[in-house]
Parts: sequence; structure tokens; C-alpha cells
Amino acid sequence: MVEKEEGLKKIKEDVLNLKDSPLYADRVKNKYFPVVGEGNHSAEVMFVGEAPGENEAKTGRPFCGRAGKVLDELLESVGIKREDVYVTNIVKDRPPGNRDPLPDEIALYAPFLDRQIELIKPKVIATLGRFSMQYVMNRYGLDFELDSISKIHGQVFSADKFKVVPLYHPASAIYNQKLLPILKEDFKVLKTLI
Ligand code: URA
Repeated sequence: MVEKEEGLKKIKEDVLNLKDSPLYADRVKNKYFPVVGEGNHSAEVMFVGEAPGENEAKTGRPFCGRAGKVLDELLESVGIKREDVYVTNIVKDRPPGNRDPLPDEIALYAPFLDRQIELIKPKVIATLGRFSMQYVMNRYGLDFELDSISKIHGQVFSADKFKVVPLYHPASAIYNQKLLPILKEDFKVLKTLI
């Protein structure tokens, strides 16, 4: 237990000191915080988003803006409490102007996610959006199952130590209303796994 808490604290410190990151100068200039992750350290479900948006970078908290509201609604729709899950992103600093994370940025930050997975040991990893889906499935031996998110969202894949459920990104439901009911159905699948 102490090991887990110390390990998670060390991840936070390491991300705070990540001066080599191409996103570091922007963090300092804008007085942003890195968004390392938050939630239950013994969570059965870990949600992995893409990268912090502006609200997240201003507060240091994942999914606290508009996409976070959608995530909260989805959790509530299946009776899962946010405090029971762990929420993080692959990239821990905000890419300027909310652009997509670059491959080099994903490569730089992903080892922190791997360390979080190793310490928290979730039963299920729910990826939010295609970047985290691609990273997690490639990294954990599910590359042969990869397809476009429109084909494999809501399916359950078994990696060695956990299951992976790819989900649409909650922000996508803000721009495309048709995706909200699909996300709700997929959250029902998630609920059956815990
Ligand atoms: N979008 C993400 O992918 N992550 C956040 O934390 C917020 C918005």
C-alpha cells in the first residue's frame, strides 16, 4: 500500500519536473498545471483520455470541463461513482489550442500511464477516444484487434492483466448528439465488468 502511494507520488513529481517536454514551456508561460490523474487508487476501472484541455490545465484536474460533464453524466447513467474510478490521460500537459497530441508527445508521456496502470492494477481500462485506444491496445498485446473506433467501440478485449473497452471520447458527444446514446450503451457494457 505504501509502495503504491509512493509510486503514484513519484509519478506526479516526475511529470512536474518534465522539463524536456515540448509542452513544458507552454505550461510555464500559461501558469498551467500538468494533469497527472485523480480518483480511487484501488479503482477497478481506469479511464484514459487524450490530453488535458484548458480547464484541466488551469486546475490540474482531469475531465473537469465540458467533456468532464459528459463523462459524469455517463457514469451516473449506469450508477458508477466518479470517486470509485481513476481518471487520467495519455498526455499529461495541454497541447496548445487543443490540437491532437503528436506521436512524440504520446511516446514521451505514455510511460507515466504504464506506471499508473502497474500500480493501480485496474480490472478494466476504458479508453476515451482513438489516441488512447491505439496506444493501450498496441502496448498491451491487442494490436491484432485494432480497428477504427466506429467498429470496435463498446467491445471487450482481454489483455494479460485487464480488460480493455474502447469508448468514444465524451467530447465527441458534444459535437455529434448521435453519439451520446451510443456512449450510454457502451457504459452499460462497462458496468457489467465490475
Ligand atoms: N479531454 C481529455 O482527453 N482529457 C481531459 O482531461 C479533458 C478533456
